[in-house]
Amino acid sequence: MSQKLFVITAIALLITNMGLAQSPPSGFVPPPLNPKGVKLKVVPLGSKVYALESSRPPVDNAGFVVGEKGVLIIDSHINGEMGKQIIEAVRSVTDKPILYLVNTNGHADHTFGNYVFPSDTIIIAQKLTKVMMSPPLEELKTRNLVLVGGDKNAFVGVEKRMPDVTFDKFMEIDLGGITVELHHFGAGNTFGDTVVYVPSVKAAWTGNLIFGEGSIPFLLLGNTEAYINTLSAFQKALDLNIIIPGHGIPAKQAIFERYVDYLKTLEEAVEKAKKKNLTLEDTLKSVTLEKRFTIPENLSSHDFYAGLHPFNVQKIYLEKSVS
Ligand SMILES: [Zn+2]
Repeated sequence: MSQKLFVITAIALLITNMGLAQSPPSGFVPPPLNPKGVKLKVVPLGSKVYALESSRPPVDNAGFVVGEKGVLIIDSHINGEMGKQIIEAVRSVTDKPILYLVNTNGHADHTFGNYVFPSDTIIIAQKLTKVMMSPPLEELKTRNLVLVGGDKNAFVGVEKRMPDVTFDKFMEIDLGGITVELHHFGAGNTFGDTVVYVPSVKAAWTGNLIFGEGSIPFLLLGNTEAYINTLSAFQKALDLNIIIPGHGIPAKQAIFERYVDYLKTLEEAVEKAKKKNLTLEDTLKSVTLEKRFTIPENLSSHDFYAGLHPFNVQKIYLEKSVS
């Protein structure tokens, strides 16, 4: 199979298996998440709270919080090697036990590292995230190859490890002297997106709900209305200094306005196109990215970020076709 055909087939497979019956439009490229050579930088966000920032965005970020009783980790990354890098980062700061690991969504790049964490670490996920992780491991590996450029080596050794505990809307964890909150505000990029919030430093990890400074949303699974409602509820509920996205550059509060403005503007434009009975193809041509949402050229992996717009146009067009 040619590389191009492989990519198209694999993306279609990835998306179809995620419950979305659509092939991606031209211009969309999958997020390049192969972690080969990536280093996670330990960035203190205040007392006891650390971001783990990927040296090559949009390869995944992660993080951890250290309490008197032990440590909570946010996301386990895409394979065992990266999971071990997270453990090493924790060990560079503390020798306290790793009590909890939270998966912010069910994608491979947030969960495939689960198996390298201590057997007594309690893995927590929103209940729909657990469902997302339930297909057989080999199927998940095949489906997610597209994220690592078809490099099977990226998943060698990965073992299945499911969450031990699930929650629905909210869960609070006392680590001793510091509290961590888990919020599910509704569907966004996936059905079970989780925000991990540390009130003492006003920091939130958002998984794929937010793709970092300068980005636009990725309407992968949740529908547009749900995504807007989720972002609004999130913004209203939490007082924020910093957002550590699952991918990309840390962001500020202003990202909420950008995301909601983008989604509402796009929804309106696609609705207009539908009223004029434009085909999907013509809608993709006419609903271009408004100037104020331009993706900065220096954003690492610009092609991926720029390709999100046609993907979102198609997603909304198909949404409006069934409603
Ligand atoms: Zn992700």
